[in-house]
Amino acid sequence: MLITIADPFDPSLPGKLGEFGEVATGLDRLAETDVLLVRSKTKVTREVLEKAPKLKLVIRGGVGIDTIDVKAAEERGVRVRNTPKASSITVAELAFALMLAAPTRLIEAHISMCQGKWEKNELKRTELFGKTLTLVGLGNIAAEVAKRAQAFGMTVCAYDPHVPARRAEELGVTLLGDLKEALSRADYVSLHVPLVESTKNLINKETLSVMKKGAVLVNTARAGVIVAEDVLEALESGQLAYYCADVWPTDPPSPDYPILKSNRVFMVPHLGANSKENLLRIGEEVCSIIREAQKEGVL
Ligand code: NAD
Repeated sequence: MLITIADPFDPSLPGKLGEFGEVATGLDRLAETDVLLVRSKTKVTREVLEKAPKLKLVIRGGVGIDTIDVKAAEERGVRVRNTPKASSITVAELAFALMLAAPTRLIEAHISMCQGKWEKNELKRTELFGKTLTLVGLGNIAAEVAKRAQAFGMTVCAYDPHVPARRAEELGVTLLGDLKEALSRADYVSLHVPLVESTKNLINKETLSVMKKGAVLVNTARAGVIVAEDVLEALESGQLAYYCADVWPTDPPSPDYPILKSNRVFMVPHLGANSKENLLRIGEEVCSIIREAQKEGVL
């Protein structure tokens, strides 16, 4: 069996995969590949699948499978799996760090000191304590963000039409049935939905207008969930105080991406799933998915 690792995983993974067969990196040996491992960079398109006639299993080390043409894979009898829970803590920690950067003025203060300034009086701070956080999407990552926000003394609301009320109760989160109602309560909004038809452009001129003036928007989900031009306009008018982003239309974003024009944006280069611990957890899940496929006779 040939396992191809197309994108960067933990350096220990090739060694761990040795028990299953031969391991290759890059896409040069697609024609002989039985199992293809990808993260975000390699898109598993119909064309890629056509170049891999022996392929039986694609594993995405990560949450979404929007980088894989699942329909084309199904048509060819290729099983598609991901590692849905491995990244929850690490993405939640980044979302929380981005959110905390706004009231602490952490990034602006750091930049200011790097420029030789001492803006102790200019950099007025606020607190997360006592503020309301609205989570858009209440899945695995949002649940971890909720726990951290509660530890900081925040009230947590959520909008997620697919989650049972019982789950929100367990998490101590107020689940609201209407997106605008949920957004209107928030001092902070954190996005945790997949990019699907119902979430595309969800944060737009209309939904931004119901938020409290000066709210903070955190996006570690997908760039396509927001309308960038509308977010820029909201930042310029003060409707939004900050937009904190880990996710981009492309990695890296094109220089003309509207969001890059604002100095009210805190940005990181898609680091959400990049922790050492997460890569190790993904590696463990990859091995158990391959083991399961072997047991079921897929490989
Ligand atoms: P999850 O599947 O556990 O949760 C997603 C939630 O979104 C679900 O509860 C679902 O019901 C809800 N949802 C779906 N459509 C909705 C809608 N229209 N309105 C409101 N809620 C809706 O996924 P997760 O592990 O929490 O991850 C969430 C997203 O985070 C992923 O889909 C991915 O896009 C993104 N992500 C980003 C990174 C990163 O590196 N920044 C890493 C992992 C995941």
